[in-house]
Amino acid sequence: MSDDVQARSSAVSEVVEETLRHLRWLSDAGVTEVPPPALPDREALRRDASEEPAAPARGAPLPVPGPGDGAPRGKGAGSPALLAVRADLGECRRCKLAAGRTTLVFGVGNPAAELMFVGEGPGADEDREGEPFVGKAGQLLTRMIVAMGFRRDEVYIANVVKCRPPGNRNPEPDEIEACEPFLRGQIAAIRPKVIVALGKFAAQTLLRDTTPITRLRGRWMTYEGVKLMPTFHPAYLLRSPDEKGKAWEDLQAVMRELGRTPGSRA
Ligand code: URA
Repeated sequence: MSDDVQARSSAVSEVVEETLRHLRWLSDAGVTEVPPPALPDREALRRDASEEPAAPARGAPLPVPGPGDGAPRGKGAGSPALLAVRADLGECRRCKLAAGRTTLVFGVGNPAAELMFVGEGPGADEDREGEPFVGKAGQLLTRMIVAMGFRRDEVYIANVVKCRPPGNRNPEPDEIEACEPFLRGQIAAIRPKVIVALGKFAAQTLLRDTTPITRLRGRWMTYEGVKLMPTFHPAYLLRSPDEKGKAWEDLQAVMRELGRTPGSRA
């Protein structure tokens, strides 16, 4: 087999495997039917392609500065408001997590997202890549996002703490306290319609509520006027797949809130 044919066949196998993983998430969550995706309007796409680029709208992505531009690394800071939060954070040494990090993981996604996910803190993969939720739990989160009818780059994803806790231990109260203003800044900059708080740390930090996640999940809350849905963390769902159905119910409530059509459950 030529190298080209081999490369194509391994790309096809990857797609097949990813599709199977996605279907497994849906089936574990009890989904029996998935609404067909909305097809792009070809006429509109043709029109857009032939038009002059418009001036950026409020909250629209801006070119992202990178290392060497004299600004802090720009991933996840694609609007002036987010860039200001990122610049304020700088090469942060406000807490003891700074000593052990490889990369500060600010956030990723659409700076004008209507849907924002908040997790706990970077793990080893995220620390290496500088992007939240790229490891095993991140892959499950991406499948959850796609099952909701969104692309990963349409939503915004951030964490309570921006640096990896050593050995993936839980973030400590002083670390959360040092980092939380920047999460709040990100939320204020993005102004999403809905926040999904993934797991205990995100829900309890944003809500200032120590109720266990098992009791918080599935109930609409409000954070600074934004609707907030607490649900289980994807890492917990990987350990407890029987709970995926509950998480899917929470995400379906979010879809209804955003005017999307939830799939049907078994
Ligand atoms: N878990 C989190 O809470 N955040 C990440 O970015 C990755 C895993």
